Amino acid sequence: MKKTKIIATIGPASKKEDILEKMILSGMDIARINMAHATHDFCKDIVKKINKINEKLDTNVSIMLDLKGPDITVGKFSKGKAFFHQGDKIRLYNQKMVGDNTKLSVSYEHFVEEVKIGSIIHLNDGLVELEVLDKDYDNLLCEVKKEGEVFDNKSVNVLNTKLNIPFLSEKDKEDIRLACKLNVDFLALSFVSSYEDVIRINDILIEQDNDHIAIIPKIENEQSFEDIDDILKISDGIMIARGDLGAEIPMERIPGIQKIIINKCHTAGKVSIVATEMMSTMENASRPTRAEVSDVANAVIEGVDVVMLSGETTIGKYPIDTLRAMSKIVESAEQDIDYYDFLDKTMRTEKQDITGSIAYSVVDCSSRLKCAFIVTPTITGHTAKKISRFHPKAIIIALSPDIDTVKELNMYYGIYPVLIDELKSFDEIMIRSKEIAKKLLKEEKGKIIITGGYPFSEVKHTNFMKIEEL
Ligand code: PGA
Ligand code: MN
Repeated sequence: MKKTKIIATIGPASKKEDILEKMILSGMDIARINMAHATHDFCKDIVKKINKINEKLDTNVSIMLDLKGPDITVGKFSKGKAFFHQGDKIRLYNQKMVGDNTKLSVSYEHFVEEVKIGSIIHLNDGLVELEVLDKDYDNLLCEVKKEGEVFDNKSVNVLNTKLNIPFLSEKDKEDIRLACKLNVDFLALSFVSSYEDVIRINDILIEQDNDHIAIIPKIENEQSFEDIDDILKISDGIMIARGDLGAEIPMERIPGIQKIIINKCHTAGKVSIVATEMMSTMENASRPTRAEVSDVANAVIEGVDVVMLSGETTIGKYPIDTLRAMSKIVESAEQDIDYYDFLDKTMRTEKQDITGSIAYSVVDCSSRLKCAFIVTPTITGHTAKKISRFHPKAIIIALSPDIDTVKELNMYYGIYPVLIDELKSFDEIMIRSKEIAKKLLKEEKGKIIITGGYPFSEVKHTNFMKIEEL
């Protein structure tokens, strides 16, 4: 059983029910729908299919809707794409028009006005680089500095520049309402720039009476990275969105930023997600490169909770093989985590209270006694999340009668949530925990630790741990 969770983005290559089912069986924990591309009908269809497969397989795969946000894209090209050669002079227009290899349109109406002469513009996640030579009232004259191909609707980023594009569009608001209606589990927020942006989303969710959807801001520009400490305080996790991030700031800064964010999330007890180009060779090849294997494995060893696939599963030729390969890599890397180091590091930043002390003892004990499972009966998921932060070697089985809690916990490192009927007597939970552990445990014998807060619905903190031999 792997402990690192995998998000796979759903697109044309993966939208069929039989493919989705195979993806779940190959390690997909969360299905992401990218609202920069998906229609509402597409969302409804995927949510319906995932719910159906969950029932069939008795799984709890959760759903993430990723808002388009204030991203800027190129318009359409006459041939669906255009190649820009080094040294070519091309013009970028505000207004809508069909582009070719001499001109293109940009989706933000004040683009020409706000971008300064001398700026560097990236197209298609930084594949093509332009320098602004001159500007007219309705266009920018640019020189191609790095050549390459650009398809319809691909990304536009201006290096080290904050444009005044509003954070939330009408479309985003409609998408949030859809997310609430479909009761998805996670909302990823593209291009947040500040704490205030996240607060606005929170307010909309409150207006919609939704206290279930967890919020995952994406760090994909310098401003959000600068405000990360405040953003973290009001978020459930952070996505290190390396695609746009590497087009907004120099790409060589990504590994350092990734490490800093993973550490901050770990200290704050929030989920960290590493996204984009983790296995992109597998869009067209049946195996990853050594460098990709190392990238995924190192993220796990650094302590990431979740790794994400985008192009590999939306348009790639091998969505299922990619998931299989990624699951194998993370499971192998988990063997190389220094668990005692994590235990020490976590304890140093853990609150000196009862829950923190028990969580530490549980993880320490599970390691000494080589327990395969830590079982946590939980209503809100609090105890399970606390233990997940320690990244124990044991699998955490979270038993909850609340389906929303089950779906949310599915994103946390090492947690296997199980939906149960009710949390009533202590003795019943002990019996149920042993039954579930026995079913999952390949060997006949072993020790498990059961921990939680009792009486179940009355106490808000963890107050017991019990060791059981199977
Ligand atoms: P996207 O976000 O795939 O929605 O652009 C991820 C990224 O930018 O890395
Ligand atoms: Mn992005």
